[in-house]
Amino acid sequence: MTQYIKTGLNIEDVNDPCFAIKDNIDKILIIDDAKDNRILLSELLIPDHKVFLAKDGVQGIKLACKHNPDLILLDVVMPGIDGYQVIKSLKNNESTMNIPVIFISSKISTEDERMGLDLGAVDYITKPFNPPIVQARVRNHLRSQRHKNLLEQLALIDALTEIYNRRFYELNVRKVWNESIRNNTQVSIAMIDIDFFKSYNDEYGHLKGDDALRLVANHIKKQLKRPHDIIARYGGEEFAVILPNTDANSAERLLIEICISIENLQILHNSSSISHYLTISIGGASIIPIPNMEHNSFLGIVDEHLYQAKAQGRNRVCWKKS
Ligand code: GH3
Ligand code: MG
Ligand code: MG
Repeated sequence: MTQYIKTGLNIEDVNDPCFAIKDNIDKILIIDDAKDNRILLSELLIPDHKVFLAKDGVQGIKLACKHNPDLILLDVVMPGIDGYQVIKSLKNNESTMNIPVIFISSKISTEDERMGLDLGAVDYITKPFNPPIVQARVRNHLRSQRHKNLLEQLALIDALTEIYNRRFYELNVRKVWNESIRNNTQVSIAMIDIDFFKSYNDEYGHLKGDDALRLVANHIKKQLKRPHDIIARYGGEEFAVILPNTDANSAERLLIEICISIENLQILHNSSSISHYLTISIGGASIIPIPNMEHNSFLGIVDEHLYQAKAQGRNRVCWKKS
């Protein structure tokens, strides 16, 4: 059987709808109906990338959803749905819309190229292609995609505490809310505010204040164990917690533990009138949202309960149960 470059894979392996080698490297999906092209492109890319192969558009879309590749090389002329239809479908799906697509096509007219780029492809390479140029373009697009991903991630992180920021919270609270409506599940949301933090700054200075914020934020984060739980810095010394799929009793219990654990950190706070140490107040509520219910009015209830926690003496949790 014909040996397939350094990887030891053979031609039959390459013809397999999906194969991949190496971990922790960029994933590239090649969608091309011509076996020779799939082999040739794989040979160019496999030493440095993890490659998935699809032999038609339908399979390509399926593999893109399944493997979330970093880049897609897409043929235009294919039986069934063509490359233009494939890219339209990818751009219409939230989970694949941001994957960069490079057309590799035998259609060489300016009009075809313009069409491909108008549909959202990052590049258009004509066949017969020049192997080193394909490798170089792939490398460049992967580099700029990594850069873009990094910037997007940084835009969602709070610089001081390094937990998620308000923007991340806003994006996700809607998502979780809508999922809860769809699945008829309970969601719990809490707002956390540090007590007498202005006087903490006045007493110990802003740098110590910043240290305390970092410590509190990351201590709360550590106690959220489930992968879908979210904590974000909502503003100054306020944090928001979203607990998807969590009922009122479990959520309240967890937030009480968090409240106690912050005082137990024993961050000295001489000018607090309720403790020797820095403390937090928490308001929260749980709900199974129904269609057309706005999450903003629910967040108003969460805020009211934070206000009550402050009014009742701070260093406590006030939870609304529906
Ligand atoms: P309460 O118990 O009612 O919440 O009182 P408070 O003093 O905590 O509330 P207030 O809203 O009066 O003050 C919040 C303080 O949080 C004021 C502000 O200086 C401080 N703060 C907000 N963001 C930061 C930050 O990034 N770093 C530091 N060091 N302090 C901050
Ligand atoms: Mg506040
Ligand atoms: Mg405060």
